[in-house]
Amino acid sequence: MKTVSVNGRDYAWPKHPLAVICCDGSEPAYMEIAMQAGLMPNLKRIIAKGENLRGLSVIPSFTNPNNLSIVTGRPPAVHGICGNYLIDPATGTETMMNDPKWLRAPTIFEAFQKQGAKVAVVTAKDKLRLLLGKGLVFDGTAVAFSSEKADKANLKDNGIGNVCAMVGMPVPEVYSAELSEFVFAAGVKLLATMTPDLMYLSTTDYVQHKYAPGSAGANAFYAMMDTYVGALDDGGATLVIVADHGMKDKHLADGSPDVIYLQDVLDQRLGAGKTKVILPITDPYVVHHGALGSFATVYAYGPAVADVMAEISAQPGIDVVLKKDDGCARYELPEDRMGDIIVISGGPKGSKVIGTSRHKHDLSGLNEPLRSHGGLTEQEVPIITNRKLKNLHAPLRNFDAFALGCNNIVES
Ligand SMILES: [Zn+2]
Repeated sequence: MKTVSVNGRDYAWPKHPLAVICCDGSEPAYMEIAMQAGLMPNLKRIIAKGENLRGLSVIPSFTNPNNLSIVTGRPPAVHGICGNYLIDPATGTETMMNDPKWLRAPTIFEAFQKQGAKVAVVTAKDKLRLLLGKGLVFDGTAVAFSSEKADKANLKDNGIGNVCAMVGMPVPEVYSAELSEFVFAAGVKLLATMTPDLMYLSTTDYVQHKYAPGSAGANAFYAMMDTYVGALDDGGATLVIVADHGMKDKHLADGSPDVIYLQDVLDQRLGAGKTKVILPITDPYVVHHGALGSFATVYAYGPAVADVMAEISAQPGIDVVLKKDDGCARYELPEDRMGDIIVISGGPKGSKVIGTSRHKHDLSGLNEPLRSHGGLTEQEVPIITNRKLKNLHAPLRNFDAFALGCNNIVES
């Protein structure tokens, strides 16, 4: 049997089109509650003939590190994408990490396409599409586009044009459930028309940031998703449904965000300019989380690292404070892209998030009490398949998704 090797893992050629869905921010309770409420009949049917498992995301439990782990099959120490935002080690300046130049490993798609596979990648946000599509050749055997810029998709840059006509939907608003629905709808069409060997459908967590599991807004999203999941199953795909990370309430009883402004604390305790708190969740789309998450990395400019760590550890709601080398070893992170200290927050309720300085966070767009992610409390994710699996090794990781679909399917 033909096997593709990439990043030190082997992938058997899939017998059926393999569709991996990364449902952004899909805390396991979302689908469990929607299923119990009878809103996901297709998923229930699929699980009955497949698997309903749990796995672990990579830390930080953010979108890009996990999406890139899923498509490379390896943790951030290998592919280099450990957030949206970093201090560039080459220049010392703060910069976004969404340019494909930061990606250090080939994707599974690139490796399969080189062996003759057809590949389809659809994302909600266009920035992620650039990273995930790195290395693909648009020669008729690959497509990669986003719903955000569906109307701009063309043969040269995306391997496909007229996407809105194909999908039968207009370009959705960037902050909407439809941005994700477009991804699913495109996947159903591509399965029928292109029959890709590998397909990756990656949504956006706008709905999950806004609505808790079981709420009307969340249930409507999962009922919508269910019709497309059913269509992909009917279309003959092997389905592997995972999430990049979970999502938890990050607010106090009065609805205000449960936040520690760590830069303010360190400036007060150690002096201004002595430390730099970097929040890798920072991105241009912060309306729904205000750039507040449960993971930070801290640079020490003068003070002893141990002294800075002691100040951070003394704050309530801090779960993990590690030196860079210890933190990178434990969480498989790239040392050159982390600060001197790695910090994870949560606290007894898992609700604590980390900010830099109070005045730097615009929370005016937060119309609902904050829900976010980044910490250990958002590491558990669903792993659902429509075929039985064999030879599983615990713990499963979300970045095993393509390997599970290629190597672990029980053929009936
Ligand atoms: Zn996400």
